[in-house]
Amino acid sequence: MSTNQEYSFFKGVEINFDKAAKFTRFSGGVLEQIKACNAILRVRFPVRIGHEIEVIEAYRVQHSHHKLPCKGGIRFSMEVNQDEVMALAALMTYKCAIVNVPFGGGKGGIKIDTSKYSVSDLERITRRYTSELCKKNFIGPGIDVPAPDYGTSSREMSWIVDTYATLYPNDLNAMASVTGKPISQGGVRGRVEATGLGVFFGIREACSIEEDMKKLGLTTGIQGKKIIVQGLGNVGYHAAKFCQNAGAIIVGVIEYNGAIYKESGIDVDEAQAHRKQHGALLDFPGALNLPDPATGLEQACDILIPAALESVIHKGNAAKIQAKIVAEAANGPVTAEADAILIAKGIMVIPDIYLNAGGVTVSYFEWLKNLSHVKYGRLEKRFSENRYSDIMDAVERMTDKVMSPTERKLVQKGPEEIDLVHSGLEDTMMGSYQEIREIWAGTTGVDDLRTAAFICAINKIGVAYEELGIFP
Ligand code: GLU
Repeated sequence: MSTNQEYSFFKGVEINFDKAAKFTRFSGGVLEQIKACNAILRVRFPVRIGHEIEVIEAYRVQHSHHKLPCKGGIRFSMEVNQDEVMALAALMTYKCAIVNVPFGGGKGGIKIDTSKYSVSDLERITRRYTSELCKKNFIGPGIDVPAPDYGTSSREMSWIVDTYATLYPNDLNAMASVTGKPISQGGVRGRVEATGLGVFFGIREACSIEEDMKKLGLTTGIQGKKIIVQGLGNVGYHAAKFCQNAGAIIVGVIEYNGAIYKESGIDVDEAQAHRKQHGALLDFPGALNLPDPATGLEQACDILIPAALESVIHKGNAAKIQAKIVAEAANGPVTAEADAILIAKGIMVIPDIYLNAGGVTVSYFEWLKNLSHVKYGRLEKRFSENRYSDIMDAVERMTDKVMSPTERKLVQKGPEEIDLVHSGLEDTMMGSYQEIREIWAGTTGVDDLRTAAFICAINKIGVAYEELGIFP
């Protein structure tokens, strides 16, 4: 927890929830049930590291069982604690509801510093953690489905699925026990960039509404917007890259060991290559060095994208934020106290529970692929190509004109898995933004998108509980 934070992370999520709950029709008991963490697993298990035995602390929290399986990533970090995992699991519940992904929220964490372990150490830790989840019934295609998060990637997911499949050899759906897997292990194309691409789609949607942009003193569109991104990991890198491709200018990049700022723009791939080569962003050609990364957040820009860990914008620095839009690519980057300061300053915050939902949306597509045991596009690709070809033939006959082979190839192309995944993600992010914005614009007293997003989530989860009929 940041020293500038008055509340714990979980309490902060509850504060945001309570603020929104007032605008819903649900009573105290229903709201309490939505808010509560349904199940918490805390384990300590031994792993042999070199010649020693190390006792590892780990968690898995299932925040909501209103829909199953529970869904959410597994984080490897020294900051992992029960409160953090509870807060992240709760955010997953609201996130899934907002993007209409039929899961309850979950999250896991292992308290380790990954840089201190070899790959085989990490593999033993991950496999043992998975066995603990199996023992306690905290993993399974219909129970609880982990995914990558901070400090983990498709590599860890492949260890998890292999361990699960070994322990449950008769489970036909074992592949669906975890998402974010490598393609060869049942992963789906487009999952790696999904969260960052979703962040881009969300920002693009927000920036397309003239009325909202006018209030911020901005023009519509991503083109020419000055962006600072904090964190060049998977989410931050892809978010920045897609924004840059759409014509935004990346003026600042922040990493834990130094930030850089360059008014005329920083090429994202060049910054990433520089960081990999030199171990830090500092001394990037032509850019201003900001050795204290915290000051990077306070530089001039249109859009600030915090894409690393929670609580980076707190009551100690919120007043100094110059961005007109804070786009929460990370989970919980703005504390509840900071949120109030940003709202008072007229800054638009695009909330995490909407904006970073692209990851879990594509995880949903992966889970469906695993359950159906067939790759997206397999059934319709050739059929579509033949149909488009027939249409082109007819058009050519009727017009007495012939398309160039390149044009024809483009028009005739049937959908591949990656096309379908990207299009499903784009549609989800666009539709959900409009849903939230409608609540924001149409509810008296709701002055921010986060409250609108929580109202949207609470309404959906409340109705799901009512339909379950669990309240006698
Ligand atoms: N860890 C990601 C998140 O925080 C993805 C979760 C998932 O795909 O289940 O949203």
